Amino acid sequence: MLIPKQIVIPALVRVKPGALDRIGIYAERHAFMRVKLFFSQDFEEEVVARLTKSLQLRNVQILQKTAVESVSFEKVTELFRQSSGNADAIIGFGGGKALDVAKYLAFLFRLPYLSVPTSLSNDGFCSPQSSLTVGDRRRALPSAMPFGVILDTAVCLDAPEILWHSGVGDLVSKFTAVTDWKMAFHAIGTPVDDFAALLSDASVHQFLGRPKRDLEGMRLLGTALLLNGISMSICGSSRPVSGSEHLISHALDRVSKRPRLHGLQVGVATYLMSLLQGQNSERIAELFDRTGFWQTIARHPFDRLEWLEAARVAPSIKSDFYTVLSSRDCLPEIKTALHSDPTLCECFR
Ligand SMILES: [Zn+2]
Repeated sequence: MLIPKQIVIPALVRVKPGALDRIGIYAERHAFMRVKLFFSQDFEEEVVARLTKSLQLRNVQILQKTAVESVSFEKVTELFRQSSGNADAIIGFGGGKALDVAKYLAFLFRLPYLSVPTSLSNDGFCSPQSSLTVGDRRRALPSAMPFGVILDTAVCLDAPEILWHSGVGDLVSKFTAVTDWKMAFHAIGTPVDDFAALLSDASVHQFLGRPKRDLEGMRLLGTALLLNGISMSICGSSRPVSGSEHLISHALDRVSKRPRLHGLQVGVATYLMSLLQGQNSERIAELFDRTGFWQTIARHPFDRLEWLEAARVAPSIKSDFYTVLSSRDCLPEIKTALHSDPTLCECFR
């Protein structure tokens, strides 16, 4: 018997150069004539001016314009209490922080959310979760799927190269995440949503065919990360996009003196976990070679001891979440890999 299922996906998707200057047109088309805007605090005035000008040209009223400084849950709920929900939509503009905060506010206000990323450092710009800090810990809280994603590939191409490497690292983790998911099915019966797994897997392959940092490359990476978010929405869990490699990264966020960009941690952890899983290692290593990911990591190597501590903590990060790390005591294998795998040796000190 077919069980009917409701899937929330964005109704508006624009991935192209110049999309930023057309936001006013998109907003008007959907009758979003009064909006609230949340943007990254480190933006130059002229970048924000491009967006506001586009809205003003179509007579879209900006009721509130707030620079986002913090992703703390307390700060976000304070913002929620201070403002009213009398807008037609909420726009998040910038990198991770502004998007996470705007998305969560849209969720609290029950308002349509327009996601306008300016870099592609992870898959959070189109996902049903917001990554906020609760106390001193980063947590993925249930949030609203964006109504629209407006991704200007030219703007993303202008962002620092390291953010692109981070996006590539987060995308590639789908290899190990999907393998972990299937392992969990065989070991403890975790249900696998075939279509979500297929979509997550396919999104990586699309990018693998042409992993370049140019306008077309931004389109492919942006679309692939977007489809990752949709695969989460399809199955109602983060399983298709997050497995043991994300556990390692979450553990690093706790134990590192200076945690690094999410996708850089996740990318290296993906290669490490693929060695334990015995699958896809060569493919991942080759992609990281072609994109210059390894060289970026080697310039500022990770701390081997912090990674060993993270690997020890990782299996306890999420309860009822079976991955390759639950299948056996992986610490001895991880220790050997960090010391003797020729590729990983370059990434650690
Ligand atoms: Zn991620």
